[in-house]
Amino acid sequence: AGVALLLATAACSAERDADTEETGGAAAEGSLIGIAMPTKSLERWNKDGAHLESLLQDAGYETDLQFADNKVDQQITQLQNMINQDPAVLVIASIDGTALAPVLAQAKEKDITVIAYDRLINGTEDVDYYATFDNYEVGQMQGEFIVEQLGLDTGAGPFNLEPFAGSPDDNNAKFFFSGAWDVLGEYVTSGQLVVPSGKAPASNDEWSSIGIQGWSSETAQAEMENRLNSFYGSDKVDVVLSPNDSLALGIQQALEGAGYTVGVDWPLVTGQDADEANVENMIAGKQAMTVWKDTRTLGDQVATMVDQVLAGETVSVNDEESYNNEVKVVPTYLLPPVVVTKDTIQSTLIDSGFYTAADVGL
Ligand code: BGC
Repeated sequence: AGVALLLATAACSAERDADTEETGGAAAEGSLIGIAMPTKSLERWNKDGAHLESLLQDAGYETDLQFADNKVDQQITQLQNMINQDPAVLVIASIDGTALAPVLAQAKEKDITVIAYDRLINGTEDVDYYATFDNYEVGQMQGEFIVEQLGLDTGAGPFNLEPFAGSPDDNNAKFFFSGAWDVLGEYVTSGQLVVPSGKAPASNDEWSSIGIQGWSSETAQAEMENRLNSFYGSDKVDVVLSPNDSLALGIQQALEGAGYTVGVDWPLVTGQDADEANVENMIAGKQAMTVWKDTRTLGDQVATMVDQVLAGETVSVNDEESYNNEVKVVPTYLLPPVVVTKDTIQSTLIDSGFYTAADVGL
């Protein structure tokens, strides 16, 4: 009987160990994790929110997932409500990275750990970790793609370029622009790239002069229409640096409205996120590339960080110098972005299960 009891005990503890592995540990049980996402209006944030929520719930956490309609006040109210429920960790994809210091001071008073998700939170001591994709590399990939496709490195040109940048309140936008402009700037200087609208920032620091507030497709469309109407006449635009897919959609609308035709005079348009509509546009020849950030890997990383925080373990980071939020350098985990073109949709987005072929009409 003694042996049987011993065996049963061993089996039981083996089972518990397996459970513990799977669930993120006893600390997960019942702990509340608040997840604040910026908006439901962009495909990626819906995917981000749903994936992280289900990972954490499967690990035994309670979750409170909120989307804020791109309104800063709404996000602050949501964070206040979360803080009132005493969560163990807040995971925040901020709308305005400079607007959260006061509400995060309240979180810090309650010893709540704060993880900035995808976008850095600026101007506060009270952000503990940051997990994101290498934002500078995203821009670099867009710039390098343009160089290769146009043959700029072999002296080709001149080509007409229209550059765009992301939302001025999003800390990522300056990294995207700097990454791209550090590659493209020299060709503007050499005259191989010409910007007929004149909307080429004199330096990386002036990127926000061409920023599109709220990453809005409509604003990007209006801006592109304006540039085409005012500066082009019979001349054609050859290449558009679009920092992400929501801007690319608006830019593509403007090009269509102005009579550009795929296969004839359609320009090279860049993007980021591999949103479904943009993947379809890549298949249709309206977008040359997107930079894919597999949001599942970001969710996995953040869930790991949450487990580590609750278990009192060292939180894994791989960059402790790049992301200074003006008060401190925030320990960061950077994930690698991936270029996707029409020819690699299958081998990247579909083979990895991010989309089915039917999702994108392949
Ligand atoms: C994200 C991009 C996204 C953009 C608009 C950025 O902070 O990193 O992936 O396209 O916001 O939502």
